[in-house]
Amino acid sequence: MRQSKKLGQCFLKDKNFVKKAINRAELTDKDIVLEVGLGEGALTKELAKIAKKVYVIELDERLKPFADEITSEFENVEIIWSDALKVDLKTLGFNKIVANLPYQISSPITFKFLEEDFEVAVLMYQYEFAKRMAGKPDTKEYSRLSVAVQYNADVEFICKVPPSAFSPKPDVNSAIVKLTKREPKYHVKDEEFFKKVLKAIFQHRNRTIKRALIDSSHEIGIERNILKEILEKIENKFEFTERVFKTPPEKIGYLSNLLYDEI
Ligand code: SAM
Repeated sequence: MRQSKKLGQCFLKDKNFVKKAINRAELTDKDIVLEVGLGEGALTKELAKIAKKVYVIELDERLKPFADEITSEFENVEIIWSDALKVDLKTLGFNKIVANLPYQISSPITFKFLEEDFEVAVLMYQYEFAKRMAGKPDTKEYSRLSVAVQYNADVEFICKVPPSAFSPKPDVNSAIVKLTKREPKYHVKDEEFFKKVLKAIFQHRNRTIKRALIDSSHEIGIERNILKEILEKIENKFEFTERVFKTPPEKIGYLSNLLYDEI
């Protein structure tokens, strides 16, 4: 079978990283695990040896021979032939996620996962994406992605994975990340509006919050002059001169609430 670059088909060959992912997920025989992307089943087999049940969502039906081999050996594996972005995950009832993700869907699949109730997710991403997920204020990796993911999950960067761990070798480095789902640490009045504020300010991460907001007023749907008036009105309630990349997530949440009250 010719592997598809478009589907992110770089299969894990180095068993050490399979073991590492499984160890960090602290799998037991009580766990119901979701995996996205069967590939040749390197990860699936090891998950199936420990977990109670493994759901695997795979888009490419050419991988059926690998699926058949695994389901005949392991009764606890169920393959769902579909685009993972289109599956209603709520019906599956998993408590852990372990996957070497197709990198082209990293962002939408991560936010889809974060809408679900799960305990931990141990996931493999492109290295730079993983670093941005775990990014902290005042670092070059701190981004809109860092704030959005860390809103309802703790993010732990576990390790870098070199191209030599896969076949075919990808052009980029990869990394394993652990997400632990939790309640948000700060209150946001309207999550959709918060996301718009994040998108607006991180388009200008080196500018001050005030400048960034004004320059991206269209992203939050407020006319530029009206936004300037609003900012003058709430000037004494927020440090608008702070640079975007230095502003911690909870302060951005507070800013979003202040603006939300004014619109
Ligand atoms: N788990 C295997 C491994 O570690 O070797 C395969 C990982 S490979 C990086 C990603 C897999 O995701 C491929 O098998 C690919 O066909 C599948 N895939 C790509 N896009 C998908 C999608 N939208 N939904 C479900 N599976 C997808």
